[in-house]
Amino acid sequence: MNFSTLVELDKKNLWHPFTPMEAWCDPEHEPLCLVKGEGVYLESQHGTRYLDANSSIWANLHGHAHPTINSAIAKQLELVSHTSFLGFTNPPAIELSEQLLSLLPGSSLQKVFYSDNGSTAIETALRMSLQYWSQNGHPEKDVILSFDRAYHGDTLGAASLGGIPLFRGSASGLGYKSHLISNLEALESLPADRISQIAAVIIEPLIQGSAGMRLWPKGMLKQLEIWCRKHDIFLILDEVMTGFGRTGKMFAHQHEEVEPDFLCLAKGLTGGYLPLAATLTTQRVFDGFLGKVEEGRTFYYGHTYTGNALGCAAALANLQIFGEENTLEKLSSKIEHLSKRLEEIREHPHILEVRQCGLIAGIEITRSKQPLVPYEAAELMGAKVCLHARQYGILTRPVLNTLVIMPPLNITCEQIDLIVKALMQSVEDLCGN
Ligand SMILES: *Cc1c(COP(=O)(O)O)cnc(C)c1O
Repeated sequence: MNFSTLVELDKKNLWHPFTPMEAWCDPEHEPLCLVKGEGVYLESQHGTRYLDANSSIWANLHGHAHPTINSAIAKQLELVSHTSFLGFTNPPAIELSEQLLSLLPGSSLQKVFYSDNGSTAIETALRMSLQYWSQNGHPEKDVILSFDRAYHGDTLGAASLGGIPLFRGSASGLGYKSHLISNLEALESLPADRISQIAAVIIEPLIQGSAGMRLWPKGMLKQLEIWCRKHDIFLILDEVMTGFGRTGKMFAHQHEEVEPDFLCLAKGLTGGYLPLAATLTTQRVFDGFLGKVEEGRTFYYGHTYTGNALGCAAALANLQIFGEENTLEKLSSKIEHLSKRLEEIREHPHILEVRQCGLIAGIEITRSKQPLVPYEAAELMGAKVCLHARQYGILTRPVLNTLVIMPPLNITCEQIDLIVKALMQSVEDLCGN
């Protein structure tokens, strides 16, 4: 099938996520059809190469078509692609659990529960929290505390904890009993009877992604942990975005030596190749579900593709590459390099703020700084700038007016320069001066 036929069929048949479909289906709109990837580059239907500057939405870690991940998947494919994890087990799923836990030496996280994506990893942690309290003497603990501008996924449960009204959408007023707070200070003013109802606190550690790459103050996570311990409230860390090196350490919470009760992983778990997620938890939580079958303490939750062998094989290869390519060791110089480049653009008249956490950066653009006149959301300026940057060989997506840089970890400093330059050129071209 030629590409113009494919694009026609796309518009005829498909419905894309987070996409205003009227604009998508406009005859004038020719979507990019990605046909191939190699390292940090993706190739379109026209043979044009683009740098994947947001890691195909925060997922890819070591580049596309990496031989180690490709061959691990192919090797597993020869054996078997998928078998059920209900009542059965399989070698890659077992080996992966051991590898994941070994990334957290000394941690009390000792159990791994698989699912398919970030939202289900969160859902798992929430359900485990609520069921734990309900069958271990504290049925009154049934409220989940989350933060303003938080994003934890799109299933009803995960969305009901979200702090971004647009993304709550039809989940508004439904889902978990939740309580939104804006910051740590707000915790201190919670009345004791409210605190006693809280089952768990959920947070994106160090940086809120979908909020526009917003950083928490240094030390905040540690303070939150202390508060949770004081009140015996579970701490759920959503490291769906921050996990696997993005922040400079394997996991974001390791920057503040925090001990969560739940750690939710997805996006980068397979290096960005296949849908797989993991929720890690403690022996204490696990033990709270033990008992005779008739006691009804079992965790009745799961998905068909739990423990998928191809996904687990990809995840094992992903972790293997961290060792073979010294991915984490090489990160600090790249992070510093990105900082330097961001520092240079900080004073630009259309740059309101630059925010960085490891190899994650947000560049917030504005119409003018003095006086402060932001772009209206409806102007879609962030989206226009990112679209324009394709001319300069860069693919990324904004969060409203925040341009996102989140490249695969195997990016080079020269390629970081290319990304910043392309985005700034696009800002110049579109925002005028
Ligand atoms: C992407 C994301 C999710 C949801 O993951 P999906 O795989 O899209 O369901 C949850 N939390 C955070 C922080 C994310 O970035």
